[in-house]
Amino acid sequence: MWNTAVHSEFIHDHLDYGFEIPIVTFNWRVIKEKRDAYVKRLNEIYQNNLDKAHVETIHGYASFTADQEPTVEVGGKKYTAPHILIATGANLGITSDGFFELEELPKRSVIVGAGYIAVEIAGILSALGSKTSLLVRYDKVKSVTKSPSGRLAVTVISSPPSQKPTVNTIDDDIKLDEKNHIIVDEFQNTSRKGIYALGDVCGRALLTPVAIAAGRKLAHRLFEGKEDSKLDYTNIPTVVFSHPPIGTVGLTEEEAKSTYGEKNVKTYTTSFVPMYHAVTKRKTKCVMKLVCATKQEKVVGLHMQGLGCDEMLQGFAVAVKMGATKADFDRTVAIHPTSSEELVTLR
Ligand SMILES: Cc1cc2nc3c(=O)[nH]c(=O)nc-3n(C[C@H](O)[C@H](O)[C@H](O)COP(=O)(O)OP(=O)(O)OC[C@H]3O[C@@H](n4cnc5c(N)ncnc54)[C@H](O)[C@@H]3O)c2cc1C
Repeated sequence: MWNTAVHSEFIHDHLDYGFEIPIVTFNWRVIKEKRDAYVKRLNEIYQNNLDKAHVETIHGYASFTADQEPTVEVGGKKYTAPHILIATGANLGITSDGFFELEELPKRSVIVGAGYIAVEIAGILSALGSKTSLLVRYDKVKSVTKSPSGRLAVTVISSPPSQKPTVNTIDDDIKLDEKNHIIVDEFQNTSRKGIYALGDVCGRALLTPVAIAAGRKLAHRLFEGKEDSKLDYTNIPTVVFSHPPIGTVGLTEEEAKSTYGEKNVKTYTTSFVPMYHAVTKRKTKCVMKLVCATKQEKVVGLHMQGLGCDEMLQGFAVAVKMGATKADFDRTVAIHPTSSEELVTLR
């Protein structure tokens, strides 16, 4: 959907690049059908892989029972095992699932929340022509009413947001934090022996590759005897697919100052209009920031927003993970003319 919105953005620049496209119409259903078919294909591939690995899939809603042995019940049948993993996600999905079920582009949209998913969906709807409002910070929906003409009116009140993951606990044996996330140690162990949790249900770095990586590490630990196998949650690169996208890895300037001390942190910033816009009336900015710490100027944070920053981040994240310094960045010859060269020529 983000790529669809990017097309819509770039259509505005076609004339400036010499392309005359007389009528542009957009059919939401075309992309919805293609997208749904793609997701269906992916799900089939995952299911085939599970079948090939002789994993039995039991469809249904699982809940823990009060039995002494850790036991889950699905469809009236009980299951127990030496190891039980909770990976039930968070219930954010209900509203964003609704977005993916939309049959038409809404004329107006109100998105509640300012997390990355809210920002991304607001960006997509807005770029495709829906008049979009984002309710940020403490705005909480009090009521939604429908007028005789079918228009929805949203009334908001100001109070802290509450997003609770879906968790069923075995009495108090599995400890939860104040936001209802499952508390785990660095090895994904819950407070109950033989029960582990990972992914969104733990409320930390809510990203697909994080859940996958934590799952792999846990499997290596439990079934391959690799006792130290655990996911390193530091320097996880993240992209917000806004327009233009945001890419970020490592510490913010504030976090770096509180970790290393204000005197030991130096930042380098730049702001420019990418070359893509040299011939377009429409302009977007690219902003970048390197956060360096200690005398060696180790790059402890890298943050950017602009065209291409989504794809740019992965490679730079490798450098940050390896402990690169500002001098390492400076020693790297620039690729010209790109936006990413700015990161190795910062003064
Ligand atoms: C709109 C949207 C966009 C996103 N974009 C990105 C992105 O661009 N990049 C990225 O890395 N991440 C993205 N994420 C986040 C990513 O989807 C999650 O971090 C990831 O899916 C977490 O995996 P998980 O296994 O913890 O939970 P989930 O993928 O949520 O899976 C949990 C599963 O458990 C099932 N379940 C829950 N309770 C029970 C129960 N009691 N019994 C049986 N089954 C149960 C649920 O139905 C679900 O199928 C996005 C999320 C959303 C909603």
